[in-house]
Amino acid sequence: MPSRNILVINCGSSSIKFALVSEAHSQFPLFGIAERLGSRDAELRWQRGGDKDSLMIPNGDYRVALSQLLPLVQAATGGKLHGIGHRVVHGGERFTSAQRLDSEVIAAIRAIAPLAPLHNPAALQGIEAAMSVYPQLPQVAVFDTSFHQSLPEHAYRYAVPEHLYRDHGVRRYGFHGTSHRYVSHRAAEIAGLSIGDSSWLSAHLGNGCSTCAIVDGQSRDTSMGLTPLEGLVMGTRSGDIDPNLHGHLASTLGWSLEEITRVLNSESGLKGLSGLSNDMRALEQAREQGHPGATLAIEVFCYRLAKSLAAMSCALPQLDGLIFTGGIGENSPLIRSKTVTHLKLFDLAIDKEANARCIRGIAGPIHKYGHTRILVVPTNEERQIALDTLALLN
Ligand code: ADP
Repeated sequence: MPSRNILVINCGSSSIKFALVSEAHSQFPLFGIAERLGSRDAELRWQRGGDKDSLMIPNGDYRVALSQLLPLVQAATGGKLHGIGHRVVHGGERFTSAQRLDSEVIAAIRAIAPLAPLHNPAALQGIEAAMSVYPQLPQVAVFDTSFHQSLPEHAYRYAVPEHLYRDHGVRRYGFHGTSHRYVSHRAAEIAGLSIGDSSWLSAHLGNGCSTCAIVDGQSRDTSMGLTPLEGLVMGTRSGDIDPNLHGHLASTLGWSLEEITRVLNSESGLKGLSGLSNDMRALEQAREQGHPGATLAIEVFCYRLAKSLAAMSCALPQLDGLIFTGGIGENSPLIRSKTVTHLKLFDLAIDKEANARCIRGIAGPIHKYGHTRILVVPTNEERQIALDTLALLN
């Protein structure tokens, strides 16, 4: 069968990230971003082969950006595009797998929007624009939450009054599911195990960070919850805090709910702790020069990550390996080694040379011989979305 091409689209509140995924090639033939949509500085930037290019699209919206993208996609595929895969953050309890988009699925994504007020409306704008620009193509939604719909009830329920769950959907949903699913399959391949008969801990460490317990190819627990704020220390997000912090800040500082939400989402995490940056590279450099805030931020990040992994282990019958992925997980030997130092009881130990070697897209084992497996596995959410899209076209 000739190789097929899928355009993968990930819409933010004023941006579209896109990647053309070809079955036959591990590299994306075309990828890029349309940014600042709706503003005078709206711009489409892309990379094809080694060449970079850009186009200003003043006041261009999602539709304009996708129309401008069309000829680029046609050139890169020789006119053979087989479908479009959309990343949708929240699928609620309704969607346990990818869905071919039709009016009913779109209405359901809209109904779930109160759970992801920043993300689902943007995805819907992208879906509607893509349907009008590419009306003849099948389109598929792939949800960040759907992988975690296999969590048992004791893992997804909060200890709050039952009607909040029943009537308002207050429960743990989890995110980064596409990444945890992709890397756990790759880890099983690398280890020569069957994904259907193996157990993994996975740490996705990017700007957002989460852990996941994966048993026989299914998510059994994950660190993010109702929203992507729960769990680990992240770039600008606090992760777990005492829920009474809200009341405390309101009564002692007079902060509004909006202000507290903004601080916990945008001013906390690595940025808040270090007082310097949300970027792990910058923090590692500052730590080298003895910056106390950067040093502390890294210590807290790794300790909290290790604690979360230890907690996730409650969902596993055995541990076939720990997976590191995401920008930090794939590139930071320091963070991997500091985290593993806190997990000695799991018989985890790092091989220094292998750890230093596995950066910039290099996958592989980094554990000491005779110890529990630790793997670095670069994530590829775009490829997973394309695979899910293709599976629904078959
Ligand atoms: P996103 O969640 O936005 O997709 P990424 O997965 O690209 O983000 O991860 C971004 C994070 O990865 C940033 O904190 C960045 O500093 C970190 N990172 C990238 N390269 C390195 C590196 N060589 N060493 C340490 N951290 C790195």
